[in-house]
Amino acid sequence: MQRLRAAVIGGGIGGLAAAIALRENGLSAVVFEKAQELREIGAGVVVRANGMRALASIGARSAVGEVALPVRCRPPQMWHGDSLSPDADPHGNGTLESPVVYPAHRGELQRVLKEQLPSEAVRLGHTLERVAEDEDGVEVFFANGEHERFDLVIGADGIHSVVQGCIGEPVLPEGQGIMAYRGLVPAERLVGKAETARLCQWLGQDRYFITYPVCRGRLLNVVASVPNTLPEGSWSAPGDIADFAREYEDWHPEVRRVIDAMDHTFRWGIYDRPPLSRWTSGRVALIGDAAHAMLPYLGQGVNTAMEDAVTLGVLLAGADTGELAGRLRMYEDVSRDRIHRIQQSSRRMGRIYRDARLGADDRRERMAAELQGGSWLAGHDAERTARSALAQLVRAGRSLENSR
Ligand SMILES: Cc1cc2nc3c(=O)[nH]c(=O)nc-3n(C[C@H](O)[C@H](O)[C@H](O)COP(=O)(O)OP(=O)(O)OC[C@H]3O[C@@H](n4cnc5c(N)ncnc54)[C@H](O)[C@@H]3O)c2cc1C
Repeated sequence: MQRLRAAVIGGGIGGLAAAIALRENGLSAVVFEKAQELREIGAGVVVRANGMRALASIGARSAVGEVALPVRCRPPQMWHGDSLSPDADPHGNGTLESPVVYPAHRGELQRVLKEQLPSEAVRLGHTLERVAEDEDGVEVFFANGEHERFDLVIGADGIHSVVQGCIGEPVLPEGQGIMAYRGLVPAERLVGKAETARLCQWLGQDRYFITYPVCRGRLLNVVASVPNTLPEGSWSAPGDIADFAREYEDWHPEVRRVIDAMDHTFRWGIYDRPPLSRWTSGRVALIGDAAHAMLPYLGQGVNTAMEDAVTLGVLLAGADTGELAGRLRMYEDVSRDRIHRIQQSSRRMGRIYRDARLGADDRRERMAAELQGGSWLAGHDAERTARSALAQLVRAGRSLENSR
């Protein structure tokens, strides 16, 4: 049987993980990325237990472990310092007695994933313009004039996905009137002034403030959500430290000390998209933000993108071209309900985070109710779920044959 050839559009964390997963499962996969070089804006991302499990499934767990060290979470606090119980751990790790997460610098995570692929499997400077599918394959067309034919296309091109608009009515991102200040601080500047070893978060008054160590503890990543001041139509922009500090001027002194230690910050609009009616069409499938952009309140965007990669890899292993459309539909069927639940729960969690009227007790209760223990989030095993769906398909095929 000939190896199926896949084009993965987008070299973000989802696209790179998908290419690794497909190659691990016997397909050939090439990543097409519009940027001329793979370089993430300096900021962190938190990989959680379900993301680490997905990385283990594609053989990248130990390499990523070098840049995403385990970090414990301090129980969340109110803006003035009162502690919320660990039952309200918004990270939903399912192990609330030992909430451990794996923060990484995005650039480092991307680099490590890229290193798992042969260099010819990542082609930079390729901006996808359109996808044209016929009975025998899919043609991808790029802004540089190149075009190429593949057996299938994976759209991992993020919240503004061009691939999504090629397989259905384009669904536009929706803003929630919020943005995040983000940035990195050398941890040595904060010795004796702020906690730098654990993930810490403060909630209150339309805002949250989160810090966690990245780059082996050398840097502290800061992400802080505030009402949106970005100009209309702008997705990100440099930020001003003095403006940032004003947003948090009456917050706990530890928060203010972290902002004071920053040299630079940038502003990042926060958007999601309502659940799409479909993620696949024939030989084309969407993954990650292209399929299910979500608000960051459960910290699952990257983690679910990596789950998608694993699910696709397992379901496409050994498939022939005649089975492709069915296997892609299966990917969507296996994943969609869980991911839509996460998208909707992230929106509700965002409202709880930002509700100025909620005191510590009400907040704790509502967060715990939303999380329901958290194991449905971080306990998920994408590989096991996909394998059991595939086994069911095989069993159903056998019983159909036996009944003939
Ligand atoms: C403030 C904030 C904090 C967050 N924190 C977390 C967190 O802690 N944990 C977590 O799991 N998630 C987090 N997220 C969400 C997470 O960042 C996203 O869900 C994740 O990056 C999506 O990955 P992706 O690969 O699907 O898309 P992207 O990362 O958006 O990658 C898409 C890639 O496709 C490329 N591309 C786009 N269009 C084209 C085209 N036409 N042709 C070729 N290439 C193209 C882009 O250049 C990009 O490289 C956070 C988000 C925000 C805003």
